[in-house]
Amino acid sequence: MKIKCPKCKKTAELSMDFSFVKCETCDLDMSYGEYVKFVAHNETTYSDILGDYAGSTEGQSAGSLDEWD
Ligand SMILES: [Zn+2]
Repeated sequence: MKIKCPKCKKTAELSMDFSFVKCETCDLDMSYGEYVKFVAHNETTYSDILGDYAGSTEGQSAGSLDEWD
């Protein structure tokens, strides 16, 4: 399926089985797991979404994102 490339903001391709993400525009080629980490570290909007989600669940700490590395 089509997703937004985290590097060049153009259209990237996510494989049907969520195994990899590829972008022909900037030669992005990584696993979906790497893609999620990449986006989480580089997209503040995405981090905000995760923050809002964590904030909406009672008793959950948003600090867990720091442990991804
Ligand atoms: Zn790209």
